[in-house]
Amino acid sequence: MSQIFQTAKGVHDILPEDHEFHTFIKKVIRHRGRQAGFRRISTPIFEYTDVFVRSIGEGSDIVTKEMYTFEDKKGRSLTLKPEGTAGVVRSYIQNGMNQWPQPVLLYYFEPHFRYDRPQKGRYRQFWQFGFEIIGESDPALDAQLIQLANAIHKDLGIAHIFELQLNTIGTKESRKDYVGTLQDYYAGKERSLCEDCKVRINKNILRLLDCKEEDCRILAELAPPMKDYLDKESREFHDELKEYLDEIGVKYVENPKLVRGLDYYSKTVFEFWDKNEGAQNAVGGGGRYDGLIEIMGGQSTPAVGYAAGVDRLIANMKREKVRVPSKDELHVFVAQLGREAKKKCLVLIDRLRNSGIKTMGALGKGSINIQLKLADKFKVTYTVLIGLTEVREGTAIIRNMKKGTQEKVKMEKVVDRLIKLIGEQNLDKYTPGEVSTQ
Ligand code: AMP
Repeated sequence: MSQIFQTAKGVHDILPEDHEFHTFIKKVIRHRGRQAGFRRISTPIFEYTDVFVRSIGEGSDIVTKEMYTFEDKKGRSLTLKPEGTAGVVRSYIQNGMNQWPQPVLLYYFEPHFRYDRPQKGRYRQFWQFGFEIIGESDPALDAQLIQLANAIHKDLGIAHIFELQLNTIGTKESRKDYVGTLQDYYAGKERSLCEDCKVRINKNILRLLDCKEEDCRILAELAPPMKDYLDKESREFHDELKEYLDEIGVKYVENPKLVRGLDYYSKTVFEFWDKNEGAQNAVGGGGRYDGLIEIMGGQSTPAVGYAAGVDRLIANMKREKVRVPSKDELHVFVAQLGREAKKKCLVLIDRLRNSGIKTMGALGKGSINIQLKLADKFKVTYTVLIGLTEVREGTAIIRNMKKGTQEKVKMEKVVDRLIKLIGEQNLDKYTPGEVSTQ
């Protein structure tokens, strides 16, 4: 027997039913993004590996364990993008976006790749959308970004299940003292740490604070609090952000242990957690990354961003029984008998589709009965039947599949009659907008 192929481990198909969710989410993102002045960017699926190593940080979980890295035929090291911000920042610098009006507001909706341990809500190819505000530093921007995320969750019908976790990790400078304090605190406690944290302790000690393992969590609880070590500027920035969030009515939980995994964050960090599942299945997160553009070779430029996982949003929407509008259902099925009838069908189908009527033609050789059964399976309300008699008369039969009634209509009247029956407002009118040449 020949081999039946399966998807590679950790990846999955997006079948039509899930695409209805994808399409809906994309629409919400586009709409909310545009309202706030964001424009879409797509960076390549792969970049030079250094783009990610330099930005995300050598000690991060992503860089040490999760990247899909390969060499091209000339021996260049390339990596499939594991997150969105690094590529956007690379593009900002490469394309001289510092010359654009600041801040530059960009959003993306793209697949990402991580060699993660596959489990519920954790895949090796997953979709993320994200928003980046580059070129201006003000806690009001952080507040607006969080407000935008909230609006999106509301539009998706799942805002009530999330809790915003908020923290500040201060500037890189102000963290130096704290990192020293943490090293002293953890000295001699290495044996109690999980295997990952035994590595993190030397590479990225802050990550020990938000490890999910029980023993690590207990140690983290007792660790000296980061806020005691932050500089005045970072603390004031954070206080101002909280004032703005209060003003716009955004609820948050202060979480002094939230650090997020990537090296590039400074000051604000936040995540949206499922109220029931906590950190395990965070649906999105972000923060301020004021130092990143300089690290990547650009001029010192402040920035703040937010990204969320589409697969996890969809899982949450399904769990909450959210239904999205489906535009896939067909209006009309066209059935025919004989070659002459088929010719008439081909012309009619084209006219129907151009009028916004979603139409499927049964153009095979089955009997009318078989074709009607098929029409039932596709759940269309109307079937148009054209047989030998109808060809001779220049007519067609319109059958209401739900009521079992039918009427004979002149061929040239079929489209108008169906528009009336379906209703103008239900048509799938295609309006690409006007194009022009200079
Ligand atoms: P992160 O930048 O790691 O916080 O990722 C942002 C969001 O992307 C997460 O909150 C998840 O919703 C989603 N995400 C990250 N990794 C995965 C994965 N392996 N599979 C599915 N979704 C993911």
